[in-house]
Amino acid sequence: MDRIVVVGGGLAGGRAVVELREQGFSGTITLVGAEEHRPYDRPPLSKAVLSGRTDDTTLPLDLDSAELLLGRHATALRPGVLETDGGPVEFDGLVLATGAAPVRLPGAPEQRVLRTIDDARALREELRPGARLAIVGAGWIGAEVATHAAAHGVTVTVVEAGATPLLAALGPEIGGHTMPWYEQAGIELRVGTAVAEIRADGLELAGGEFLPADIVVVGVGVRPDVRWLESSGLLLDRGVVVDEWLSAVPGAGDAAGGGAASGYRPGTVVATGDCAAWWSRRYERRMRVEHWECAQESPRVAVATLLRSLAGGEPAPGEAGADSDSVYNPVPYFWSQQFGRMVQFAGLPGPDSTLVLRGDPTAVAPAGAKRAPGWSAGWFAPDGRMVALVTVARPLDMVAGRRMLLADAAPDAAKFADPDIALKEL
Ligand code: FAD
Repeated sequence: MDRIVVVGGGLAGGRAVVELREQGFSGTITLVGAEEHRPYDRPPLSKAVLSGRTDDTTLPLDLDSAELLLGRHATALRPGVLETDGGPVEFDGLVLATGAAPVRLPGAPEQRVLRTIDDARALREELRPGARLAIVGAGWIGAEVATHAAAHGVTVTVVEAGATPLLAALGPEIGGHTMPWYEQAGIELRVGTAVAEIRADGLELAGGEFLPADIVVVGVGVRPDVRWLESSGLLLDRGVVVDEWLSAVPGAGDAAGGGAASGYRPGTVVATGDCAAWWSRRYERRMRVEHWECAQESPRVAVATLLRSLAGGEPAPGEAGADSDSVYNPVPYFWSQQFGRMVQFAGLPGPDSTLVLRGDPTAVAPAGAKRAPGWSAGWFAPDGRMVALVTVARPLDMVAGRRMLLADAAPDAAKFADPDIALKEL
């Protein structure tokens, strides 16, 4: 076992390199990353970088023992060989960590998005007082960009196709409670408004109206960056399909014959971070998230699977009797800082969940205080288990709540609804 190649130089790829060494791999590690930069952190891009508090978010990861092929794109994959735009790279084991790329909308070929440090620096330069900014999408990124732009004196309009901000992530009730935040920040929020076309000088709205803007930012979500794997023989389904151990699953109808005949030894190709669609034992469904914590934590499991497989460990991941402690089985967790509030979200609401508020989302700031008091909300399954939690400026609720979610706890809903009772007491 000589060479492990990591594709993708983001958090997940960088963490995979560190994990390989920490878990005892002494062979050659090659990191192939499309960006010229060493792995850097993305959450600060729409926060500290846009606000000018920092300009460099390089991750403090020890990558000295790895060969870094930066500015190099992986273009195709077959068993044992990664094709790149700088020539083929052979491997014994492979970590796929190519993350996700922003969705573009119909219209201008060049559309401003916020995914890279270069995007963030360029956008910051444009955010001058008096400039007119149109943001498409009131999701996490749109809200954070709006926050900083408005604070810089930019005139901001946010156009959202859904009925509320954060609709897909948090549902209409919680999303609706964030709408006043836009107004309080002096931002025009236009919900239920579809964009027909992105133009360099503004937005063509579906009803025919034109919204002029000096800067247009498209923040309508991302897609896993896996198109380059289409002829690889690996199964793709809105991401790289991996099992509970994060081992890639060969596809059925590939050029190499598919399935077991595809030539990939089980467990020797793993995927981690935003590009991985893993089987969740906890939720009994396939999951893929775009959460920092997944890119931080899942490389540990992916690398353990890879090293075990390369060492000829039996049984292979996914087989009966395989080590069930080493599966990737998180409760998803995400945070966002918007409009002066820390918003945290954990868990997975079900279609039959009941929402229970904890505190008053409509409360106004008391005299002399800068902000309204925080609040939280929990989603409860019909059997009484709390399955998801959102907290707004109540970080202690999230600390206790995440423990409860991990433990499948069923707190008393009436007590949960009382913000004066600490969650850790329930
Ligand atoms: P990425 O960070 O996308 O890295 C993948 C890397 O692979 C990229 O450098 C890409 O260029 C490279 N690559 C792609 N294709 C190829 C190829 N073919 N060959 C070689 N290299 C390739 N999460 C939170 O939980 N909280 C937050 O507050 C938060 N804020 C965010 C703010 C912003 C602006 C952004 C963009 C994301 C934010 N996230 C947040 C999400 C979080 O940053 C991501 O989940 C995390 O970065 C995913 O890491 P990753 O390594 O899997 O993928």
